[in-house]
Amino acid sequence: MSNLPLEVVEMFGQTIVKVVEITIPLAVVFSVLTHFWACNSGTPWWRKRELITDICYWFFVPLFARVFRIAFLVLGAGVVFKIYDADDLIAFYDNGHGPLSELPLWLQALLFLVLSDFMLYWLHRMFHGGAFWKYHAIHHSSEDLDWISAARFHPVNLFLGTIAVDVILLMAGISPNIMLWVGPFTTFHSAFVHANLNWSLGPFKYVLATPVFHRWHHTALVEQGGNTNFAGTFPIWDILFGTFRMPENELPNAYGVDDATIPSEIGGQLAYPFRQ
Ligand SMILES: [Zn+2]
Ligand SMILES: [Zn+2]
Repeated sequence: MSNLPLEVVEMFGQTIVKVVEITIPLAVVFSVLTHFWACNSGTPWWRKRELITDICYWFFVPLFARVFRIAFLVLGAGVVFKIYDADDLIAFYDNGHGPLSELPLWLQALLFLVLSDFMLYWLHRMFHGGAFWKYHAIHHSSEDLDWISAARFHPVNLFLGTIAVDVILLMAGISPNIMLWVGPFTTFHSAFVHANLNWSLGPFKYVLATPVFHRWHHTALVEQGGNTNFAGTFPIWDILFGTFRMPENELPNAYGVDDATIPSEIGGQLAYPFRQ
């Protein structure tokens, strides 16, 4: 008898426990910070509209991303490198492979952050246009934008976003061990840029994406500059490609998309793009 169903349940359990462990400190930290440095006054995050929707994404997205990251890594190793055996797969990915895996781990982590952010910048711009927008509109549907809104992504947006980029870089040889640092950083940083904070970090606003930087991106499209600030982590991409926008002495204050047909619960949102 295969142990696979049991292993899957165990993996789901582990992921849920990990998410809970991360969520509690994040909730405490952002509750305190937004009490003192709120970007927009009003209700605290725990009383925000669509909180249940965001909590569902918060747990669903890490599970979904984990399962498909592994599936695509296995598939990719088979198609590109003709590796099919379970032990060979583990050996192939365990500590990375090829020249990239020879670099010091900190450099691999930095390389991963920069390269993935560059790819995600262009994928993000792609999702703001044409047939892709309806998938990304889900991420922009939060009107009470806060740290817990960070995980609200349609699966199609995840496939052609973080999952694809992670798989490409791990297949290129970067060691998965970097995730020990990169994972917590990206989780914290993505919650941070969505948090209701008036922080723009002074001159460091050009170095690292801040809450004010990303909250501008969530304002109504075009009129307020929603088609700017596409970078996830490093605003340098927006500076280089002419999409950087941080008005002086002004804070963003209205978020969401002008589309009343986007449902407010997760099931309806997942189906939304396919109904368009
Ligand atoms: Zn966007
Ligand atoms: Zn966002």
